Amino acid sequence: MMIKKISKERFKKLFDELKEEYNIAAPILKDKGKEKILEYDFINDFDQIVWDRQPDSSPKNIIFPQNSMLGNDYKGSKYYDDNLSTIIMGVRSCDIEAVKVFDQVFIEDDSYIDDSYKNRRDKTIIMGISCAEREDSCFCDSLGLDPIESDYAPVYIFKDEDEFFIKIKDEKYEDLFEDLPKGDQAQLKALKKQRKEEFNESSFSLDIPTPLPEKEMFEADIWEEMTEKCLGCGVCTYYCPTCYCFNFFWEGEDGESTKYKSWDSCMFSSYSVHASGHNPRDSKGKRYRNRIMHKFSYHPLNYEGLACVGCGRCIDRCPVNLDIREALKMTEEYLLEEGGDESGKD
Ligand code: SF4
Ligand code: SF4
Repeated sequence: MMIKKISKERFKKLFDELKEEYNIAAPILKDKGKEKILEYDFINDFDQIVWDRQPDSSPKNIIFPQNSMLGNDYKGSKYYDDNLSTIIMGVRSCDIEAVKVFDQVFIEDDSYIDDSYKNRRDKTIIMGISCAEREDSCFCDSLGLDPIESDYAPVYIFKDEDEFFIKIKDEKYEDLFEDLPKGDQAQLKALKKQRKEEFNESSFSLDIPTPLPEKEMFEADIWEEMTEKCLGCGVCTYYCPTCYCFNFFWEGEDGESTKYKSWDSCMFSSYSVHASGHNPRDSKGKRYRNRIMHKFSYHPLNYEGLACVGCGRCIDRCPVNLDIREALKMTEEYLLEEGGDESGKD
């Protein structure tokens, strides 16, 4: 492990050195009509990076493009070169854990390896950033994650006013940072301790067994009530850093057609329609049940950890304010009243 400490000016210089060898993606403000949205994109200018708040969307679009012509990622991006590896700067613990979910499903599961994802991930270095304060809708720590530091990123940034500690945990990347001034380990430890103490506790607490018991929850009568106001727009899944469903479609005809891979959403009413026309998830409640069960039951049954990282983006972005924390509380209450204490709590 190597620790460095640099000023903002030195980081700017480092950025300019790195961009000669790497594509660099980071959270930047973008005009979206009346609003400015903080999103990850490929950039050329260090000063564009916004470090101090959680981005509105996750870096999912960098490791898993929303709509890609196969073999031609980010063709339209000025600052992306297909021959270079990519550094994603400023990724928070929740989003790093979400990358882990993608890696488990698309790389580590022997039953299916997604080559296009694997190739992109093999050429991606994640530089995490420690969270200094909680956003209103975040609840990662209620799910057992550490907002101060995630072990899953090989390089981690701790921003302290205008200075940056850089912790290089994977020696494979030490060369990139070798020339930077050394950082003091005790000073970094003190900063992390102070941050942990000052990080205000989440008002949300959850006491559910994981994996959620499939049979009890499948038959529960809470789902329709929970989703009365849902519009089925799929925004929650698009913003969710762990939702990875996708579809293929073709544009053009015959020899001229092009194959695209695009994000899909289990909240769309047509998502699970069979070729026969039968739809096993023919109501909003059944679709939302699948969303919750995937994250809190099916994923932990098959892999390590949950497939919700408590980033809160589905809460911030849902047009009808459907709050996953309320849905999880209803689940907790239902299990307390109806489900008994079966199914082995973690
Ligand atoms: S964002 Fe809200 S309204 Fe849209 S599908 Fe998700 S829960 Fe339903
Ligand atoms: S379900 Fe909501 S809170 Fe959980 S990871 Fe997805 S967007 Fe974040």
